[in-house]
Amino acid sequence: MKVKTRFAPSPTGNLHIGSIRTAFYSWLFARHYNGKFVLRIEDTDLSRSESISTDFIINGLKWLGLNWDEGPYFQTQRLNRYKEVIRVMLEKEDAYICICSFQELEKTRMKQIKKGYKPRYPGTCRNLKIKHVLNKNYVVRFKNPLFGKVIFQDEIRGEIVFNNEELDDLIIQRSNGMPTYNFCVVIDDLDMKITHVIRGEDHINNTPRQINILKSLEGDIPIYAHLSMILDEEGNKISKRKNSVNIMDYNKNGFLPEALLNYIVRLGWSYGDQEIFNISEMKKLFNLKSITKSSSIVNTKKLLWINKYYINNLPLNYVSNLFDNYMKQQNIDTQNGPNLESLVKLLRSRYHTLKEMAESCRYFYEEFDLLKKKETEKYFTIKNCCVLEESYRRIKKLFIWNNYNISMIINDISASIKVKTKEVNMILRISITGNIYSPSISTVIYLIGREKTLSRIQKAILYIKNL
Ligand code: GLU
Repeated sequence: MKVKTRFAPSPTGNLHIGSIRTAFYSWLFARHYNGKFVLRIEDTDLSRSESISTDFIINGLKWLGLNWDEGPYFQTQRLNRYKEVIRVMLEKEDAYICICSFQELEKTRMKQIKKGYKPRYPGTCRNLKIKHVLNKNYVVRFKNPLFGKVIFQDEIRGEIVFNNEELDDLIIQRSNGMPTYNFCVVIDDLDMKITHVIRGEDHINNTPRQINILKSLEGDIPIYAHLSMILDEEGNKISKRKNSVNIMDYNKNGFLPEALLNYIVRLGWSYGDQEIFNISEMKKLFNLKSITKSSSIVNTKKLLWINKYYINNLPLNYVSNLFDNYMKQQNIDTQNGPNLESLVKLLRSRYHTLKEMAESCRYFYEEFDLLKKKETEKYFTIKNCCVLEESYRRIKKLFIWNNYNISMIINDISASIKVKTKEVNMILRISITGNIYSPSISTVIYLIGREKTLSRIQKAILYIKNL
């Protein structure tokens, strides 16, 4: 049997971390078995589907490299196929026309609730064999078996049993003529020859209904795996419309796709206590049996830790290419200044995201005004002015421009003027970067270059003298 999985999102909001985990596990499972992965957009709920959400889905999957072998299929483009199956089901009397009005159904529902019963369709039209309906709204219902059980083996939860008596005669075509979710899923999974349905646990209750429809169509029943929920840091269910972060926002905020996938794979799946997995390891090791039944909780600290790991461990030229986008996002023109690889090499051990890194290094490319800030003002002293003048003199004269020589100059200045190296570093740092924090100042000076360094030192000398 050739494994075939699918990701079947409804385009009704954000593509959040929970949806991406479903997609990723389905993708990994297919890749593990050299099978196929299908993308299907379930857009039959016209009032809630929006094309922007379809864009979120496509862009998010592409960014993460979760490529699909078939699709994207759109359910709204398969309406004729659904209509045809409904026609056949009506003919075979596996489905029936129901003309019960909303008011009648409401009345029955209220009565059932009052008596303490679970509200369900009473089956009024089930045996009426209505063939044609004129001038009246109607729906089509599936004739669910009245007795017996639906039993299926969930790959994560084991055996799950439902009594048919608990299941309603499900509506498969609404009064506006549109087929419903539970029906379309079945036809699609059947037509697309899906072997494994990997999806959220919120669909467990739909599974017996879908199995019953499949059985009536004499279709093969796929293997099901229902994933437990992902909760946000406060312990709330993540919702597409309320508290979720769209997956592309992780991109905007400087996360690497490798890091996000590594983080997501561990939201429910484990392999001993290993935390870092590259994509080929994930494909090799992933299985459904090692997925937990309990819910997972989003942990931003861990995501940041993993992101930092990848920033530091992926090839320098790859990270630098990605970093370029964040410099553009910050509107920093990198033509005039150090090349990005040297910059990333210097900075990458200091930051958790590429965005944070880009925000920190404007001074490599742009001039700035020195300002008397609370944390810098105590360094603007006459003594430090002497340090700067000495630095200017020596840097100007430096014969071979390299990191080592620059750090030697700093040591010499400290010895000759009798100011601690730490303090020489600090006034140079403030003059050249505008900040009290920076990577090694000799490397910063080296990368910024002699000309810009001298002009910034000069500016700082003037600034102190004019105070
Ligand atoms: N369209 C459904 C959703 O977005 C998923 C259906 C399925 O995976 O069977 O929740």
